[in-house]
Formats: sequence, structure tokens, C-alpha cells
Amino acid sequence: MRRFKLIHGETIISATPDLIPVVDLTDYSNLTWVEIEERLRGTRLVVFPTGSVEQHGHHLGVGADWLQADAIARRVGEQCGALVLPTLCYGVSGHHKEFPGVLTITSDTYRRVIAEILESLARYGVEKVVFVNGHGGNTGAIVEAAKEARDRHGMLCAVTHWWDVLASESMFGHAAEEHAGYAETALTLASRPEAVRMDKAVVKETMQADAEIQLVRAGLARFRGGVVRIPLRTIDVTDVGSMTEAHPDEVQTTSDYSMITPGYAEELMGRVVEWLCAFIDRFEGFQVPPVERAYP
Ligand SMILES: [Zn+2]
Repeated sequence: MRRFKLIHGETIISATPDLIPVVDLTDYSNLTWVEIEERLRGTRLVVFPTGSVEQHGHHLGVGADWLQADAIARRVGEQCGALVLPTLCYGVSGHHKEFPGVLTITSDTYRRVIAEILESLARYGVEKVVFVNGHGGNTGAIVEAAKEARDRHGMLCAVTHWWDVLASESMFGHAAEEHAGYAETALTLASRPEAVRMDKAVVKETMQADAEIQLVRAGLARFRGGVVRIPLRTIDVTDVGSMTEAHPDEVQTTSDYSMITPGYAEELMGRVVEWLCAFIDRFEGFQVPPVERAYP
């Protein structure tokens, strides 16, 4: 019998001492079912990275969303020892489909896929799932599946987005949420530099269709101080695929991404990973009081 130290401090016992000791027990795909069973005795929380395959302007590969989610989640695993599931690369990107290369599944199919994976996890005792979601188009379906998992399995899910983590910060005058903007370019650079063509980078102002209803992006508009959701196709508001998320008066069309250096990219990635590690640490102990309510 041989003991291997895990990152979380638990130990796992192998009956085959000749095997090479397992050091990294944070990557779900590398583990055998025996190791997963043992691992889930020590933690009931897993990290689930999700993304999409969709256009990201002229300068980011179509894998940008899943590449970022995958890299963030792997680093979270390395840094805080969380168990990280395989990344679900495909997502809900129908609103981008006029751009070549987009591979999309419908929201309803996506919700079912997520729900059935959560059901699988519940079978082996997983109680908490932290989504590291790299694509806003997936959010509604993930939240629906998470509600279902709460009702059916008592599971607690948290849906995180890097742009929410960075929401209060200005990226050189641009919003973090901007599609293929500064933040997303930096995180893709930190995740997989081969997917970035910095010399082709451009982010344009959202195209406008009305003198008073100001389009912010596909799906969001402003009118007389309020916001209104107007679901549009991405191609309705941009011809390059990347667009400003801010009010057109507040941000300029730019092709200058020179401030997005590898150092800045690493720093931004580090901030997101650190936040997630702190959140996971707290979420592991998070409980809501049980509700006892009898219905006639
Ligand atoms: Zn993206």
C-alpha cells in the first residue's frame, strides 16, 4: 500500500505500489474512477468550465471563449486544488451564426446537456458546482439547469464569469465585457497566444439604427436613461464581429491593442484566478438553511 499526498491535504491509497505516484489530482480527465471515488470523499465541489466556438472579430480564434474558461479553470485547480471537469467547448451562439466558423447548439439542447451532467455528478455525491463560464450566451441555459439540479438533487451551483469579476474595472477606458475587446484579448493571450492575431485587432462602435434608441450591443439598448433588451443578431450591430459594450459616446473605435502585453494578460488572468480561488474557498462552506414547509 502506498500513500499519495493530495493538494487539498487528503491522502489516497493505491493498492499497486509500482505505479507512478499521482501528483495532480485536480484534473478530472486524468483520474481513474477509483481515484475520483476517493477524491469525492474529500470534497463535494467541482469546477465546470464552459465556453463556445464563435467568432471573435478579426483577431481572436473562434475558440476564445472555451480557451479562456479552460485556462482559468486549470489555473484555479493548480492554485487551490479544486477538482476541474473537462471543458464543455460548444455553446449557445446562434446570434453569431452569420459569421463563418460558428458552431452552435440551441439553448434548450444546451440546458439538457448541462442538466444531465449535473445529474451524473449528483449520482456520485457532488453537492456543489462552480461554473467558470466563458460565454454569456450560455448563461440562461446554465442557470435553468442549475435551478433544476437544486430542485431535483439539492445541488448548489454558482455561475461565474470573468467579466463579472472584472466588472468594476476599466480596461484602458473599455468595459471588461466587451466582445473581443481588451480584457477578452488579454485573457485569450494568457490562455493560448496562438489564438491571437494582435496586428488584426479592431473594435468598432456598435452600429446604430435609430436616433433615440441607442444600441449598446446585440441585445441591449439604452433609451432615455433606462436600458431595454432588444434581442438582435450580432451582425445587426457590427460588421467586424468585435464591438464596444459601452455607450458609443464613451469609447472610440480603436485598433490599438498595444497595451495588451503578455505581462498585462498574465496580471489580469491572475486577478480572475485569485478571485475564483477565494470564492471557491468560501463557497465550500456555504449553506442555506433548510426550509420546512408542509403543504396540505
Ligand atoms: Zn468571448
